[in-house]
Amino acid sequence: MNQNNFNQMRVNIPGLGCWLTLIAVVWLLGAVGLGWLVKSLVVLVVLMVAAPVLGFIGLRFWLQRNLVQSQCPVCGAGLTGIKGAATSCLNCGTVLQTQAEGFARATEDGTIDITAVDVTVDTKPILPDGD
Ligand SMILES: [Zn+2]
Repeated sequence: MNQNNFNQMRVNIPGLGCWLTLIAVVWLLGAVGLGWLVKSLVVLVVLMVAAPVLGFIGLRFWLQRNLVQSQCPVCGAGLTGIKGAATSCLNCGTVLQTQAEGFARATEDGTIDITAVDVTVDTKPILPDGD
């Protein structure tokens, strides 16, 4: 009868039983001189729990600082990019450089922009294909 009641109580509060077991194990290990083991395990567990949380917070903080939402300077489509990284417009395909205030064409750095270069053709003008 008593055994049944005890089991029922354990089922009702499994978390507490788990913690009590943990505390008992920790106390036992400490009592037999393995406190260093407990400490290193605790540090390990804290690191395991804290690392993803800190990583997530750090990532969110980093994204808030570095995520830029603006419009494509060529076609005006909404874009999301990471500051300082090159991205290409999903709508028109233009390669863009993400800056703090928005997007700029990546070709402004001195690389050759094919559409902006004045090409002199001697033989005949370039016709759009398909005709
Ligand atoms: Zn575009």
